[in-house]
Amino acid sequence: MSRKIPETLRKKVAQRARNRCEYCLSSEADSVLAFEVDHIFPVKHGGPTTLENLAYTCVICNRHKGSNIATSEYLSETLVPLFNPRKDLWTDHFKIHDGSIAGKTEVGKGTVKVLELNDIDRISERRIQIQSGSYPGPI
Ligand SMILES: [Zn+2]
Repeated sequence: MSRKIPETLRKKVAQRARNRCEYCLSSEADSVLAFEVDHIFPVKHGGPTTLENLAYTCVICNRHKGSNIATSEYLSETLVPLFNPRKDLWTDHFKIHDGSIAGKTEVGKGTVKVLELNDIDRISERRIQIQSGSYPGPI
């Protein structure tokens, strides 16, 4: 969610993420839009504006994540939490293949779905970045 984040805190979040989206790993240098700071546990659910609850995100991931914290399959009663960059290791939950991001776990698969990480335009953009050597960068 978009909230006013103090500039010093925003810089710390960006530096910690090495100016990459913590969900899709895209680089802010490859984006025409400034990256945003996501409340992993949303403000509307009581999440604080602290370094431990913030993630650096591209605009697309942040719009799709919104205030979501979990997902489920239709008619399933099982909730699966979304990937949490502060608690989860990206490579434990995702792998990259030919520009697509595949979920290796239920958390990864649910996050790919909710954040629409494999929208065809996003895959195309990633393929260009892979060819130019800017994606995924150090994970
Ligand atoms: Zn992203």
